[in-house]
Amino acid sequence: MTEKNEGEMLKERLFNKKENGWLKVSSKEDIFNYAKGYINFMNRAKTEREIVKESKKIAESNGFKDINEYQTLKPGDKIYYVNREKSMYLAIIGKESIENGVNIIGAHADSPRLDLKPNPLYEDGELAYFKTHYYGGIKKYQWTTIPLSIHGVIVKANGEKVEVNIGESEEDPIFTITDLLPHLAQDQMEKKLKNGIDGEDLNLLIGSIPYCDNVPEAVKLNVLNILNEKYGITEVDFLSSELELVPAMKCRSMGFDESLVAGYGQDDKICVYTELTALVDIKEVPNRTAVCIIADKEEIGSIGNTGMESHVFDAFMAEMLDKLGVNKPNLLEKVFCNSKMLSADVDAGFDPIYASVSDRNNAGYVGRGISLNKYTGARGKSGASDANAEFVAEVRHIFEKNDIKYQITELGKVDVGGGGTIAYILANKGVDVIDCGVPVLSMHAPYEVTSKLDLYEAYKGYKAFWKE
Ligand code: MN
Ligand code: MN
Repeated sequence: MTEKNEGEMLKERLFNKKENGWLKVSSKEDIFNYAKGYINFMNRAKTEREIVKESKKIAESNGFKDINEYQTLKPGDKIYYVNREKSMYLAIIGKESIENGVNIIGAHADSPRLDLKPNPLYEDGELAYFKTHYYGGIKKYQWTTIPLSIHGVIVKANGEKVEVNIGESEEDPIFTITDLLPHLAQDQMEKKLKNGIDGEDLNLLIGSIPYCDNVPEAVKLNVLNILNEKYGITEVDFLSSELELVPAMKCRSMGFDESLVAGYGQDDKICVYTELTALVDIKEVPNRTAVCIIADKEEIGSIGNTGMESHVFDAFMAEMLDKLGVNKPNLLEKVFCNSKMLSADVDAGFDPIYASVSDRNNAGYVGRGISLNKYTGARGKSGASDANAEFVAEVRHIFEKNDIKYQITELGKVDVGGGGTIAYILANKGVDVIDCGVPVLSMHAPYEVTSKLDLYEAYKGYKAFWKE
């Protein structure tokens, strides 16, 4: 090897080295094994309800118990609370006085999808359809001509709840939304991409056999008859249902080198999985209480009683203070003001095909490790939760000390756009928060892409944050 000249040595000392994380990996085995667990998790749970159910199982098998089962709490106790089957909070009580604050990591379990309308079923042209209303920010054209499955619940007026999950098993049928053949799409092709498919045209094809030949809407009747036999429901029961259409495609390992993961809903289930596994893998009682959030409704503004804006999280925290026997007026506010949080949400990965929307110097690169957004917001940081430099330094210190590969990035060019997460909600309570997640390619598409290296670094990074 040739000697480095003075300039090279100075550069090494002064420059922020931005390196491909794989170059520093000694054994890929740990990363690939961890990714297998992630892929399995993703194939077991595709909706917020399924994620919460699966997370509860994982928590319970690691010694976590419903907070309602505890009369009092002490350091080392592991608790969870499930809010309406859609959001969940977990905690490990730490050794330090809770007045000094807690360490929170929070991700969201909901992902963009198509929901069924309350009156979804109709027949047209001797075909039966479900009408949908999309949830979250989607590019509508991406949701046609792909296999879709139906997940969710139908609750009858008497309270009986029917769980639906059809289109995932190999034996199940799948569903799809048709698109116009190119031969006749001349007018459609002239439209702007965002108008190519109308929201009202995202109708799911669900059947084509008429029940008999002497009643109108016989195809719809046949579908309803099948649903009645299978689920015991009638058309009116759709009024009180929550049925979600999600891609019926399996989460899979991707690339010749198998370095990537392709799958639906990685925004933000990748952060749910990494935070949850990090939490349950903490074997020693942490100094500060570790709190984990699995939120719902982030994709539509975090509103509602399962969204992060609701006070259910405060109620959980207050109950913790009560059961620790330390609660007093204004303590919860004080706890929040002394708390720290990683808002675990995905970042836009730099995509060289669409490089023009990113500032290369400040973009999150797939394969460079966990990605921190100091601030979010759009066009002049509007609506941003902007982490304080002091807190960014603290998080940097934790990551550097624990050899976590990280990058500090920004979502897109200044004038192009931006995004938001649940960070601001906790920041408003006084918590020090920074966005900290995994870069994703094709975010919000039916098939999103992430790097196994970033996945693993997120797991390690979250664990290090809680262990501090
Ligand atoms: Mn997200
Ligand atoms: Mn999102």
